[in-house]
Amino acid sequence: MPTVTSTLDIQKIRSQFPVLDQEVNGKPLIYFDNAATSQTANQVVQSLIQFYQKDHANIHRGIHTLAERSTKAFEETRERVHEFINSGEADEIIFTKGTTESINLVAQSWGTKFLKEGDEILISQLEHHSNIVPWQLAAERSGAVIKVIPINEKGEIRMDEYRNLLSDRTRLVAVNYVSNSLGTINPVKEIIEAAQEVKAITLIDAAQAAPHIKIDVQELNCDFLALSSHKMYGPTGVGVLYGRRDLLEAMPPYQGGGEMIKDVSFSGTTYNDIPYKFEAGTPNIGEVIAFKYAMDFIDELGHEHIQTYEHELLEYANNKLRSIPGFRPIGTADEKASVISFLIDNVHQYDLGQLLDARGIAVRTGHHCTQPLMDHLGIDGTVRASFAVYNTKEEIDVFYDALVSIIKKFG
Ligand code: PLP
Repeated sequence: MPTVTSTLDIQKIRSQFPVLDQEVNGKPLIYFDNAATSQTANQVVQSLIQFYQKDHANIHRGIHTLAERSTKAFEETRERVHEFINSGEADEIIFTKGTTESINLVAQSWGTKFLKEGDEILISQLEHHSNIVPWQLAAERSGAVIKVIPINEKGEIRMDEYRNLLSDRTRLVAVNYVSNSLGTINPVKEIIEAAQEVKAITLIDAAQAAPHIKIDVQELNCDFLALSSHKMYGPTGVGVLYGRRDLLEAMPPYQGGGEMIKDVSFSGTTYNDIPYKFEAGTPNIGEVIAFKYAMDFIDELGHEHIQTYEHELLEYANNKLRSIPGFRPIGTADEKASVISFLIDNVHQYDLGQLLDARGIAVRTGHHCTQPLMDHLGIDGTVRASFAVYNTKEEIDVFYDALVSIIKKFG
């Protein structure tokens, strides 16, 4: 729960996102699809322009000035992530193209070496497909078994059931920090502590947490953590895998190619040290460099202030939307990030999404890549409005009015 009062200058923040200042379908854009991808802060865009206009070169290999400038800036972002999530050292930060790739990396590399028949992998009912399917593939390869931690009617992980599932067969617990579909903030510290009691490895999918909640991997004491830049006001195509040094060192490479090697000959190859062992090929150099400015943007505002303000938006929206006839919130956890998933009686979620778009309001509809969760809830999807720090109560008023007028049309 937020502990400070919001003191953010939202208009000043909005001015750093020129994309917000446009009309869509003849109406001022209201962007409420931040859980899918947040808009990109100006300082991030400026960094991208600077890179492509002045510094564009490949990293680590060249000795010319542009290559050195690019390499230095790229490695500065690694240092910045190390500081941002308080890893033990910068070498524990691996760049990927997103949370999905980070989880696949662990599932393939760690999973292939360490999972064996009869081992159990625990994931929750709330997971995104990217924290389900890689484990299904790993289970198929190894003969490990996936067990699903149930949730209660509010959309919260059932800790009693979780503890019952833990045993000396549990090799891995992989859960999200914040549910993308329902917004539930999971008690990950407690989940990690319990996993450690049975010596299980823990992976935290922090894709939805990183923009809202201060992450400290040493404090959490997790083994792996994954996040995506594009949900944090940064560019697409950049993700992070944090991994504990001893685990990363014990894991085989994920992909082969340039950069991840020390020596290659036809008789055999020796691999590079971490983190490079897991960074085969040319990465998204400019985007990684620009991601540093997204973390600066978040830190300049402060996670606590962001969370407080977004919580105000959430409460405000909840109070307004509750009064709409037929409004059905999906996911009512006590601890929630700024996500409202809902249905409205007699109006299909896709129709709502389209009719809102016609009024310039961007929301997400569908299963949100959580089909097993939707099946469990007995629905095929929801409308999801997810707020970022640049959203306003005035936008929520317009959203509310739009919903009311749409419902009237449906009679
Ligand atoms: N995990 C969660 C909880 C997510 O919300 C998402 C994206 O929506 C992902 C994983 C996948 O992230 P990406 O598409 O950036 O790899």
